[in-house]
Amino acid sequence: MTTLTNLTQERRLVTAIPGPKSTEALKRRTEATSGGLGMAIPVVIERASDAILLDIDGNQIIDLGSGIGVTGVGNSAQRVVDRVIEQVQAFTHTCFTVAPYMNYIEVCEKLNALTPGSHKKKSLLVNSGAEAVENAVKIARHYTKRPAIVVFEHSYHGRTNLTMALTAKNMPYKEGFGPFAPEIYRVPMPYSFHWVGDQATITEDAIDMVTHKIDKEIGAHNVAAILIEPIQGEGGFIVPPKGFLPALAKYSKDNGIVFIADEVQTGLDRTGHMFAVEEEGVVPDMVVTAKGIAGGLPLAAVTGRAEVMDSVHTSGLGGTYGGNPIACAAALGAMETMEEENLVARAKHIGEILGSSLRELAKKYPVIGEVRGRGAMQAIELVEPGTKNPNTAAMSAVVKYCQSQGVLILTAGTYSNVVRFLPPLVITDELLKDALSVLDDAFASL
Ligand SMILES: *Cc1c(COP(=O)(O)O)cnc(C)c1O
Repeated sequence: MTTLTNLTQERRLVTAIPGPKSTEALKRRTEATSGGLGMAIPVVIERASDAILLDIDGNQIIDLGSGIGVTGVGNSAQRVVDRVIEQVQAFTHTCFTVAPYMNYIEVCEKLNALTPGSHKKKSLLVNSGAEAVENAVKIARHYTKRPAIVVFEHSYHGRTNLTMALTAKNMPYKEGFGPFAPEIYRVPMPYSFHWVGDQATITEDAIDMVTHKIDKEIGAHNVAAILIEPIQGEGGFIVPPKGFLPALAKYSKDNGIVFIADEVQTGLDRTGHMFAVEEEGVVPDMVVTAKGIAGGLPLAAVTGRAEVMDSVHTSGLGGTYGGNPIACAAALGAMETMEEENLVARAKHIGEILGSSLRELAKKYPVIGEVRGRGAMQAIELVEPGTKNPNTAAMSAVVKYCQSQGVLILTAGTYSNVVRFLPPLVITDELLKDALSVLDDAFASL
């Protein structure tokens, strides 16, 4: 329908980073925008396609962050663009709870079918991951008539008042923004790199600690929901040891607790599964999705057991923009792309290249303490060599070096010492390998 002048999928630097035009534009950014906003790379973007960002100075940058795991189907993916254009010409908004439309319903049907479990499911669409998490908590409380929500160390669930309370890390997310919502209880998260023992022991210890804390300090009968990221995102790609998620799901079931998987960062093919919980065959009562769902347009969802989702009175849920038709059109285009381009297999393939390259680097550079993750969601934790002490300075230096060479990578971690990789799932092998060779140079330059 449209003819896009797609960018060649190659890295190309024509100025220093940032170039003169970006430098000028960023002065206006400083003048005009809130100082509370961060910035991962100091360039201003003019266009993007698939895994390449073009800045206003003409530099082509390899995107290994996907705008925080959003553009998995590629930036301005053709099917997303086509459907958005078609929708924006048809109508832009009615509000689904005023006058409904088909693509909202179709996105929900897709999510109901794609999320784990063969039970009857229903969905709700909203605008952001945080809003979806808030709604999942609202619904779980309403359904169970219980107040308490159990969350984990190192977790990240958003920046609204309730989701700040659910999020673990104080600086920068919570500092000075309290008071926070009550009835949120934080329990230990098994962080294998920093815990002692083999995987089986760590799982057993963690489950003991978590269930003991719930039983003795909260009372399981007071708990509405256990909310967990199947692989923690902002916390530093912490992968729970085998058996932990299934044991939590079982404990939830045994105690009438709604088990909520926050798949906002892990969902929609990212980890080499449609959803990360599939790795261990876990079937959550509710799945929260956002980031990767709509190829860059703001959309998020809660999908859950029909009886849970239907427990809320009519008009108890909603919002002006939730499930906007343009965002829904984008989501249908994104899901079609995932299916037709078999991006779940691409994510696995990217995981093999990323994982093996990062493990090679870890052998060469003792500053890399651990390589972890799954599929196209991998990270390295940087330490002072020979210890497990965080090495924030090395993380900053590596990221800066990569930026200067036209590779955008993101950081993460409770201890701000994790470099994370979330490339678009459509990235070519050549581009990924080029970025990884820059990363090698970055470590060599330390
Ligand atoms: C990003 C994120 C959120 C919040 O999503 P927003 O769209 O930024 O509100 C919630 N949970 C997880 C796991 C995330 O990664």
